Amino acid sequence: MPFRFIYTQKHSIILKETMKLILLTILSLALGYNCMAQNSGNSKSIDVLKNEVAKNIQSGYEMYKKIALNLWEYAEVGFKETKSSVLLQNTLKDNGFKVNAGVAGMPTAFVATYGSGSPVIAILAEYDALPGLSQESSSAKSPILNKNSGHGCGHNLFGTGSVAAGIAIKKIIDEGKVKGTVKVYGCPAEEGGDGKVYMVREGLFNDVDVALHWHPDEHNTVTYTSSLAIKTAKFRFYGISAHASAAPDKGRSALDAVEAMDYMVNMMREHIPQESRIHYVITNGGKAPNVVPDLAEVFYYVRHPYKDITEGLFERVVNAAKAAALGTETKMEYEIISGSHDLLINKTLAADMQSNLEKVGGVAYSDDEIKFGKNLQATFLGKVPSIDSAALITPLYVEKNQGSTDVGDVSYVVPTVGVETATWVPGTSAHSWQAVACSGKDIGIKGMIVAAKTMAFTAIDLFLNPALIIKAKEEFKIMKGDYKYKALLGDRKPALNYRD
Ligand SMILES: [Zn+2]
Repeated sequence: MPFRFIYTQKHSIILKETMKLILLTILSLALGYNCMAQNSGNSKSIDVLKNEVAKNIQSGYEMYKKIALNLWEYAEVGFKETKSSVLLQNTLKDNGFKVNAGVAGMPTAFVATYGSGSPVIAILAEYDALPGLSQESSSAKSPILNKNSGHGCGHNLFGTGSVAAGIAIKKIIDEGKVKGTVKVYGCPAEEGGDGKVYMVREGLFNDVDVALHWHPDEHNTVTYTSSLAIKTAKFRFYGISAHASAAPDKGRSALDAVEAMDYMVNMMREHIPQESRIHYVITNGGKAPNVVPDLAEVFYYVRHPYKDITEGLFERVVNAAKAAALGTETKMEYEIISGSHDLLINKTLAADMQSNLEKVGGVAYSDDEIKFGKNLQATFLGKVPSIDSAALITPLYVEKNQGSTDVGDVSYVVPTVGVETATWVPGTSAHSWQAVACSGKDIGIKGMIVAAKTMAFTAIDLFLNPALIIKAKEEFKIMKGDYKYKALLGDRKPALNYRD
């Protein structure tokens, strides 16, 4: 079967890639030793520069806290982040960045640039909130009255921390301590809207050498695990209405088609790779049992660790929809809503970022924060990690990750690396009221500052050590192979109203 063929071929490519990577690592080790020997006089001055930058970011603590808490208050959902985007843009403009707003057909997206020439280092920023997660910054579940959304993924911190890193780099470009360009990418609608995919599709990363990103979390670790590629679509079926009891033979049920499709897809689960994920909700199943529904809709997510297999699975789901329409004498159309690549990990960059994260260190709690943390942990299910683990740095390791992110698309056009920092009390799950609470407190701000410093330190290494960029690009080339980027969501325009 063609499907099986793709799967096997992919694995043989990965094997070949791994062999090449081992050879490359041996070569670059030799190159690295050479560089270290040449730059040994510089390593002290690099450390001095990093200390300066750390102090500079720390001195902006109160200012960045204010911005992050403003974003937390706004809690604007995907593609509606008007105030959040403007606040971040203005902060960058006030610091001398040139801002290009409303890029790639998205009013709340922007690219802010400072400096000139190469290397060009990109820093990704997100700022969208999640619907249904309104919450005070307290240790008990307490939704804010008349408010629906909340920063359950900590993107208020994500956006602000990335801006802080960008401004810190701008300062050392200004002082002539590093040469090149820093670009802060304001990426809207990460949660289901895939803002970055449209920015990549538009070619906005074409001149970038390396992209840095981070994400709020309950521990400190450099991202070393890929994510799942994803493709989503809404399938709409059109039937014929009739009296369900008096004239059922005159009707053709659109809901029957949805059920037939779901049944076929559920049987298909036995015959798909086990790492796959397929989930759906019926978004319209008709209005009244005594009316044969002439319209029904089902919303599907299809995921797999590899984008090619995700595309293949998606086509099989489409076939089930076609067959359901045929068998129920209804008509079917589908609209692709979103789609993003798996994340291409760059081990060269991850090792460098890890050393910087270790240099920065984790998050230390005050006595009050320990008390808050313990109260919050009392609301978790199961065993909870120690509060002190927020201060620790986790070594590089591959964890189980069944999520998806539009950073994946960036990682297929430019070497990309990211860090997760402890902005949330250890044991906190993303997309929970507890995550919203932590994202609106100093606990969150402290983790955000760790991320800003780690990204700025990594940028310094990239500016001052061209061999690091060369090695990262070589690894990127091998991992990507001859694949030419193509957006999984095709040529659709940004779904600006997907949260309506
Ligand atoms: Zn997130």
